[in-house]
Amino acid sequence: MNTLQEISKVLLSSKKIGITYHVSPDGDAVGSALALLNGLKFLNKDAYLISKDIISENLQFLKSSSEANGKVIKPLSETDVVVVVDCGNFERISAELKEFKGSIINIDHHISNDKYGKFNYVDINAAATAEIVFELLNIMGINFDKVNEDLYEIGTCLYTSLVTDTGGFRHSNVTSRTHKIASKLKEIGVNNTYIYQSLFDNNSFEKIRLIGKSINNMELLLDRKVSLIKIPKSYGEELNIEIGDTSDIISFGLQIKGVEVSVLIKETENGSKASLRSKNEIDVRKIAEKLGGGGHVKAAGITMNGLNLEEAKDKILEQIEKELL
Ligand code: 5GP
Ligand code: MN
Repeated sequence: MNTLQEISKVLLSSKKIGITYHVSPDGDAVGSALALLNGLKFLNKDAYLISKDIISENLQFLKSSSEANGKVIKPLSETDVVVVVDCGNFERISAELKEFKGSIINIDHHISNDKYGKFNYVDINAAATAEIVFELLNIMGINFDKVNEDLYEIGTCLYTSLVTDTGGFRHSNVTSRTHKIASKLKEIGVNNTYIYQSLFDNNSFEKIRLIGKSINNMELLLDRKVSLIKIPKSYGEELNIEIGDTSDIISFGLQIKGVEVSVLIKETENGSKASLRSKNEIDVRKIAEKLGGGGHVKAAGITMNGLNLEEAKDKILEQIEKELL
């Protein structure tokens, strides 16, 4: 593993820097990438975003989010470095990097990280990748010690990552460092209410109806310790919406007394995509890894190509049952 000092030196001596994240980027992926992007631009570096994904609507209030426009999906010519944030596996990067000849810098907080970079920095104690990016920006000379428009925008990206990857500072991954960074950002004027409202109080009526339909088909299984929601593609067609981020829907399962694991399975073009969340002791990353997925102890996911919703459900329940014994 490398130090952040080494990574800072590499970035400061690079001429052209691409930044990317994991496919279907969530708040931490987007917030960390845009904080680094806006930070490098603040330092007058030539930096840009690479993204196969379009950033979800509720994250489009972040500065430079419009750079994810589907046009830049691989490094531009003369790029010397590509930084990948919040992504544990090479296959899950939202950029075409197979033919890239420059250096890859991997900055992440997943336990299951393959160290695919030339430079790697993985801190599994960081609640969000943004905690690492905050430290890196400090080392590069951005100190978040005054009220200033640029620092406000970078801080807003970082705070968004912290809020989204900690469930609004409620998950057990939160440490005193998480709060110290949030406190520092608040001091320079970052607006927590604006961020919260942009993220969560900004749904279309159709999205709320999707939540209703999904909760309606929720099942309680395995002695009522597991909640399970299936979202067929037809729901999106009936409501005329894209079924994008569903992390808000899966959290309803954990709100039920006695539920230890919440499962949500979406029908996709290629089969199914499952998400798993754990309330206490059960390690859902372990369950996901057995089925080819990964993630964190309390939040994991699996891409299950070739399996329909029922087949995916059976495979997941079989593994959860073993963990519940
Ligand atoms: P989500 O359920 O929100 O898609 O993902 C939760 C966590 O699991 C995230 O940390 C994400 O990176 C990881 N994850 C989600 N889907 C997959 C997958 O198909 N493969 C792997 N290795 N990790 C995944
Ligand atoms: Mn993350």
